[in-house]
Amino acid sequence: MSYMIDLEKMLSDLISIPSVNPMGKTVSGSIYYEAELTNYLEDFFTKLGLPWARQTIEPKSDNIFARLDGDIPPEAGGQIILFEAHQDTVQVDGMTIPPWTPTIKEGRIYGRGSCDTKGGMCAMLGAFARLAEERPANMPTIIMACSVNEEFGATGAAAFEEFWKSDSQFIFPQAPDAAIVAEPTSLDIVVAHKGTVRWRCQTSGRAAHSSQPELGTSAIYRMGYVIKALENYVKEVCVDLPSHHLCGRPTLSIGSIAGGRGINTVPDECTIAIDRRFLPTEKLDAVYKQVIDHINSFPGIDFEVHHEAPFSVFEPLSDHLNGLLAESLHFHASKVKPGCNITGTPYATNAGKFGSFNVPCVVFGPGSIEQAHTSDEWLPLDELHKVSEVYYQFGKKGIAK
Ligand SMILES: [Zn+2]
Repeated sequence: MSYMIDLEKMLSDLISIPSVNPMGKTVSGSIYYEAELTNYLEDFFTKLGLPWARQTIEPKSDNIFARLDGDIPPEAGGQIILFEAHQDTVQVDGMTIPPWTPTIKEGRIYGRGSCDTKGGMCAMLGAFARLAEERPANMPTIIMACSVNEEFGATGAAAFEEFWKSDSQFIFPQAPDAAIVAEPTSLDIVVAHKGTVRWRCQTSGRAAHSSQPELGTSAIYRMGYVIKALENYVKEVCVDLPSHHLCGRPTLSIGSIAGGRGINTVPDECTIAIDRRFLPTEKLDAVYKQVIDHINSFPGIDFEVHHEAPFSVFEPLSDHLNGLLAESLHFHASKVKPGCNITGTPYATNAGKFGSFNVPCVVFGPGSIEQAHTSDEWLPLDELHKVSEVYYQFGKKGIAK
């Protein structure tokens, strides 16, 4: 395979292989899970002549890692740079364009995953292949990792540490010295972002026939108090919490509500799902407890509110470790995007997880977060080429020391 990879052709291939995340639902059908895309990637790495390994996270859902050795292998003290992109996409319900038939029009490529984040993955694969072909002098070792299940819990990225601690195939022998996560950042360098903790909470009541509601206790009325308490938390507490210089303030949102068995029954159960965004300076356990304490002390709440353990956690990304990495990447990114920013975002990525393993990590990729998950998702093709060039230039030298 030549390093002159046709990026647009490869991105079309990646989009045309569905890899929809079931988002916790029981599903069947070939569009779900990443298996077919992982097979494509395996084939790609094999054709490059590079060693690769898969790590099964759940059925039909494997992380894949490929290794390109630098001048000094990591076993002899050389640097490891991790390139990471997730394989899964969100669902396609309500899309106004064909999700898996990529179309190129007026400098954009349309399709599910084009922006989040097959575009970034393609730019990385292109740079990786080019480095594999050229083997520039003084290059660090590069591990190209394509993770699974980013969109619903990030369990793929969470398993990386376990892999590099126990990899018997010598693909990924130790923690990387730095990591770049491909997500749509409009060619800015994201050095900090908020974390996310999501959990469900329930109120209970007593069922009764709706002709005699006085005999029952409505779990929905009770949940009304909980919702008021959370609205009050947003308006009175969050606004006074310390702000982060790059991420802003913590936020909270109720994403869903379900309750009641039918119109003729007083509801005995109601459930909501809470999404609390927390700062790199906040601690997950303390944040979870703070919200629960606020509910429990709110006027009118004299009943039990049951909080489940969180079903989804994304670690926040702190900028205390990644200054040197951001500077090195910024040097190259400024050449294709004059005025490229070093910045923070309100949304979470796999970078927070790597940061929590003490790996310096930044997020950088083509496309805007505004187009991620949308009904007509697209990516500007010029950004695909520019970002691939930046990954390649950075990959040649690694972090400047
Ligand atoms: Zn993404």
